[in-house]
Amino acid sequence: MKPIVTVILTSYNKPETVGRAIESVLDQTFHNWELFIMDDASNDETVNKIKSYLGDPRINYFNSKIRNEERYKTTRYATLINEAIALSSGKYLTYLTDDNFFYPRRLSTLANYLDTHSHIDIVYTKQKVEIVDSNGKVLSDYIRNTRGVLSHPQNIVDHCSIMHRRSLLKKIYGKFNSYWDDHPSNWHNADAAFWSRLTEFQPFHPIDEVLDIAIKGPTSFQSLNAFLPEKIPSGTLVKGLAPTVYLIEDQKRRVVTNKVFKLLKYNQQKVVSIPDPVLFKYEEGQPIDSSIFTIPEYFPSYRLLKGDSQPHIYFIENHKKRHILNLRAFRKYHFNKHEIIKVNQSFLESFPDGDPITTEINERFPLPGGVVFKCGSQKYISENNILYPVHPKVLDKLHLRAQKFAILNQQECRLYKKGKALEWKLKKWR
Ligand code: UDP
Ligand code: MG
Repeated sequence: MKPIVTVILTSYNKPETVGRAIESVLDQTFHNWELFIMDDASNDETVNKIKSYLGDPRINYFNSKIRNEERYKTTRYATLINEAIALSSGKYLTYLTDDNFFYPRRLSTLANYLDTHSHIDIVYTKQKVEIVDSNGKVLSDYIRNTRGVLSHPQNIVDHCSIMHRRSLLKKIYGKFNSYWDDHPSNWHNADAAFWSRLTEFQPFHPIDEVLDIAIKGPTSFQSLNAFLPEKIPSGTLVKGLAPTVYLIEDQKRRVVTNKVFKLLKYNQQKVVSIPDPVLFKYEEGQPIDSSIFTIPEYFPSYRLLKGDSQPHIYFIENHKKRHILNLRAFRKYHFNKHEIIKVNQSFLESFPDGDPITTEINERFPLPGGVVFKCGSQKYISENNILYPVHPKVLDKLHLRAQKFAILNQQECRLYKKGKALEWKLKKWR
């Protein structure tokens, strides 16, 4: 016998909530469903959690076994939903994520509505949204209301609040050659992209009841991705969901070992949490381990070095040592004396000399990299003597807001080439 409702649950590294999401399907008052759990190669903790529910014959489990390096190439949950659709057979389809829970009457209410309204193909409901902290403690909540019949439900109706007839899928495939659009530019809202396709054929009809809960925590894709620029500047420390810290340098990610993290006087507070698909998009570079203290070509940029037998302080940039000529220059760029790393003199001397760093602002002295500059009200981050305009929200995201800015007047500012603004880009669907 064919099931009436297909539920497609996408999962990635949410061991704290994925069990509750699955249980919310098992607890439905309506029993004639099939569940596809599409796991995107989660950590063992998540997979073990899922495995404890696989006894129910209505549950199908798939693991994508995707390599981290491949993650960014498509919007993974859309890819997995498409795979599940091809295997599913329910007359109605509905979607769930690993941090959402259905109310027990959800499937019966929606299926019943479609059963009794043969001219309606898509229904949606109200949703309760809970904002939680990193321990899952609820900080606040609100209701995402229905807003009548919607021809433009994008960014109004959530991924987990709709049900539609299977008959629409054939039409969508006929027109777009796929079901969900898994192009990587849709990472933050592939649901909205799919809603656009659905509404080519029918608007969304409301059912004025709250029938699911969405959890918004600090590790959700949306939270981690908010205001992250498309190009993360060199010198940014980042981490994904796992604790490993990386340094972004020349658009590569370099693992920073714990021991060297301390030796380099890096600060845990500066580590920026980013989504895994974004992290693994950066090609892996030379690790930052103890080898950096013997090989200058491996030494990361934007660190301050002092030899053990001389008082001079150097700024390392592109594997060269730039002598900071005086205290005023040190202060102008807001270098931090607590970040000076003492190394043995011969190692320091093995670095080739770069341009010195002075307070003079002219073409002869390239600006130090990784510094936040302020010209009038515009902020910039420097890299290779180019100033990249940066939005205050991006500075916040990169934990650079609290930093003091190096001031340039308009005339000085004009001396330097400007790069492409560090911006976040989100495709909109309205
Ligand atoms: N997801 C995925 N692969 C990944 C990252 C996320 O399949 O590498 C899925 C995840 O299982 C979830 C969906 O993407 O179903 C949305 O993720 P999340 O809840 O973190 O984002 P948000 O709620 O902020 O959109
Ligand atoms: Mg979510």
